[in-house]
Amino acid sequence: MIASQLLTQDELALLFEGDQNQPMYVYQDTVPAELQVLKNNCVAIDPRDENVKMLIARMYKTVTDGDRAGVGIAAPQVGFNRRLFLVKRFDKANEPFEFFLNPQIIWYSSLLQQGEEGCLSIENRYEAVYRSMTIQLTYFDLEGNQYQEVVEGYTAVIMQHEYDHLNGILFTDRIVEQAQREYEDATIETPLVYEV
Ligand SMILES: [Zn+2]
Repeated sequence: MIASQLLTQDELALLFEGDQNQPMYVYQDTVPAELQVLKNNCVAIDPRDENVKMLIARMYKTVTDGDRAGVGIAAPQVGFNRRLFLVKRFDKANEPFEFFLNPQIIWYSSLLQQGEEGCLSIENRYEAVYRSMTIQLTYFDLEGNQYQEVVEGYTAVIMQHEYDHLNGILFTDRIVEQAQREYEDATIETPLVYEV
């Protein structure tokens, strides 16, 4: 069990600053003080903290904000070093955004996929990153119930990108790390056709 903490006074001040119906400012890697927040390891959040709903609502407003919309956002990107992210579920009907409190990726497939990534905190950079094809994760809802799910494909890519944010890792860090490694192409066998 992760030790959870209520939002601090400083965090509440940031959360309730300005017009709460407006998107929040997204921290940028080009600003040293903001990069520091992006590089921090995040701490657990108390799912039953009443203020968490507002944080989720404001992050949703931010990630769906017109021209600057994204497919996922993590709490450190709006200044909260907390274990929370929102992800657009391309693997579900109507592709809803869902939030994940205190997520933990407990299994990564060794089979990888490579796709272009960008980040709301890194302007004008889009590059290919290797990610696991399939992951298994656990997370909590606002009542403190824990769930476990297996996710694959593009939605799994977004989750791995956002999960990295909670550990202070940016996709540009992954590019540097992956440049040192060699990858083998997998041979995907043609599915068998069963005659019935
Ligand atoms: Zn990002």
